[in-house]
Amino acid sequence: MKLVTYQGEHRPRVAAVGPRGLVDLNRADKSLPSCPKPLLAAWAELKSRAEAVLDSDTGVVHESIRLLPPIPNPEKVIGVGLNYADHAEETKMTPPDEPVIFCKFPTAVLADTEPIVLPRKSQEIDYEAELVVVIGQGGRHIRRRRALDHVAAYACGNDVSARDWQNRKPGGQWLLGKSFDSFAPFGPALVTADEVPDPGNLDVQLRLNGQTMQHSNTRQLIFPIDFLIEYVSNVCTLSPGDLIFTGTPGGVGFTRTPPVFLKPGDTVEVEIERLGVLTNPVVAEEK
Ligand code: ZN
Repeated sequence: MKLVTYQGEHRPRVAAVGPRGLVDLNRADKSLPSCPKPLLAAWAELKSRAEAVLDSDTGVVHESIRLLPPIPNPEKVIGVGLNYADHAEETKMTPPDEPVIFCKFPTAVLADTEPIVLPRKSQEIDYEAELVVVIGQGGRHIRRRRALDHVAAYACGNDVSARDWQNRKPGGQWLLGKSFDSFAPFGPALVTADEVPDPGNLDVQLRLNGQTMQHSNTRQLIFPIDFLIEYVSNVCTLSPGDLIFTGTPGGVGFTRTPPVFLKPGDTVEVEIERLGVLTNPVVAEEK
């Protein structure tokens, strides 16, 4: 099932993409949660009820709505650096023995079609196509063999990165360079895990103004999804709606000669097999 979140009258509400348009699951069946995190947390039990209302006419959203990021308020946005062999090679960094884990502030999330805003304070803003894993049932010390049971959904993501901030200031710490507002687009929808039988074999592409800049497959992941979930959950409790940006393949802008950085008027598309196309225009920050 494909799930989106839209701005309801009072708060964000979750809807599913049905044959007759968007279906507000809670409007169709009051026993289903109205917002995404509790729905994802209990997806295994709620899936059949959600499917039943998709086949009926109830809950179809007729009014014009504004789509929000599929999880508008994730508790954590976790990133993985250097997780594709080809990207490690182009950055001339040795593939690590253990994953490089970093954080993006949750305020960076952005919906499909919303603009990536180029901050005035950076001159080197780059794209990174990534598979995004969305946690359903949370937990700590999740074993690798059970890890995929904790994944509720997947989405396309773009780990937008200010390279001048990431690599030089402040002190080489990645957090701020990865966390400007609008630097975590993901979507266009959440595709529930039951529709993605093998997340370890998905074609990943990024197009900048129609030109293919990155093209790889999640087969190339150095640390696969189940490993990452075990690794991170050894440290912290994973919660429903947490996002893991699983790393980017080769072809990013700053490793090119000459380097390619985003500029106002650009359009960035991330396409992942089975997950659709995430499209974001690029604009300059207003003065
Ligand atoms: Zn990344």
